Amino acid sequence: MTQAPSFDTLCVQGAHAAAGEPAVDSALVPPIVYSATFAASNAQAFAEMASQPRHARYYTRYGNPLHEHVARQLVALEDGSGAHDALVTASGMGAVSLVLLGLLKAGDHVVAQTNHYMASAKHFAELLPRFGVRCTLVDQTDLAAWERAIQPGTKLLMTETPVNPTCALTDLAGVARLAHAAGAVSVCDNTFASPLNQQPLALGIDLVVHSATKYLGGHHDITAGAVIGAKALIDTLWPTQICLGATLSPMDAWLLLRGIRTLALRVRQHNASALELARWLEQQPQVERVFYPGLESHPQHALAVAQMRGFGGVMNILIRGGYEPASRFVHALKLPRQAVSLGGVESLVVHAAAMWRGTMNDEQMRVAGIAPNAVRLSVGVEGVDDLRADLARALAAV
Ligand SMILES: *Cc1c(COP(=O)(O)O)cnc(C)c1O
Repeated sequence: MTQAPSFDTLCVQGAHAAAGEPAVDSALVPPIVYSATFAASNAQAFAEMASQPRHARYYTRYGNPLHEHVARQLVALEDGSGAHDALVTASGMGAVSLVLLGLLKAGDHVVAQTNHYMASAKHFAELLPRFGVRCTLVDQTDLAAWERAIQPGTKLLMTETPVNPTCALTDLAGVARLAHAAGAVSVCDNTFASPLNQQPLALGIDLVVHSATKYLGGHHDITAGAVIGAKALIDTLWPTQICLGATLSPMDAWLLLRGIRTLALRVRQHNASALELARWLEQQPQVERVFYPGLESHPQHALAVAQMRGFGGVMNILIRGGYEPASRFVHALKLPRQAVSLGGVESLVVHAAAMWRGTMNDEQMRVAGIAPNAVRLSVGVEGVDDLRADLARALAAV
């Protein structure tokens, strides 16, 4: 192949297409290597297996041929420069935990956002402080706040954009610049965007994490995660990966590869349907506000256009009248199922305040920007007219 393959080709044909090499196996789809351990042919081979990091055939917690396959594929999708490497994990939180616990030690300082995916937020509020890591949380939309929060011991800047569930954005190039100036590592949770819509490594971010449970897998059937970044950083994380043991099962690695083949097709449809529905929803009298990065009314729309190529399937809808009408709207919906998670082919909806009520008090929710009338909608790939009709019917019921 003379020119670099497109994102679509990489999704379908895999990493070997990026390298311009033929597939290794005549099987079009890689076999699921369901083996916890691998035999050595002789003493020297065993010594090599045992000493080589991320050997794909030693012990599956250390690596598996399918892990290697998915990792190469993800590196190609996030950035084809070849300077990067990846590790796959059993869940998105496996990836977030790997980065934080793999890079930080007692006495270090972290800057993170007041808004994060809930379990990531727990890392900054509870888990990391237990191990002597200090965390400062800042308004992600305010680059000056990031800059002010950096201090001599700052080792890591954690971003998540668009953020769960408010769809606020972080200026990735800006945070990357601040991190490099401070000698800190910049990290982006790129789950909401997917590699089709946003490529943080190209904006200067050091490490990308994904919950591959969402768009990468795409079918609400697996939990998986990944970390992608410079080879040297991935090498640094490797010893922690073995200890944490968030090992992706070979079956789920295979399903992840299957999901990735249609990533470009799916995400383009999520982008198109979500933008169309967001535009329609913001015109409806029962809707107070729609936060979706693709809308001109999003307070950071200019940043969205600058750093994203598409805006994803998730939006935050504020229903007029507060908690009760929002609750009635969610319960009246028939096509989007009421379930946590996002980024799959089925539309899913959650009443955010009802979901977080069990873990946050009203003040914590206010600080995290979770309004009582906020509804998170993950637009799937069902017919967009069917979705609009269902939304219209549910709005009429509030
Ligand atoms: C779901 C999610 C996670 C956690 O991923 P799991 O696969 O559920 O462990 C992390 N970050 C974001 C933004 C998510 O949406």
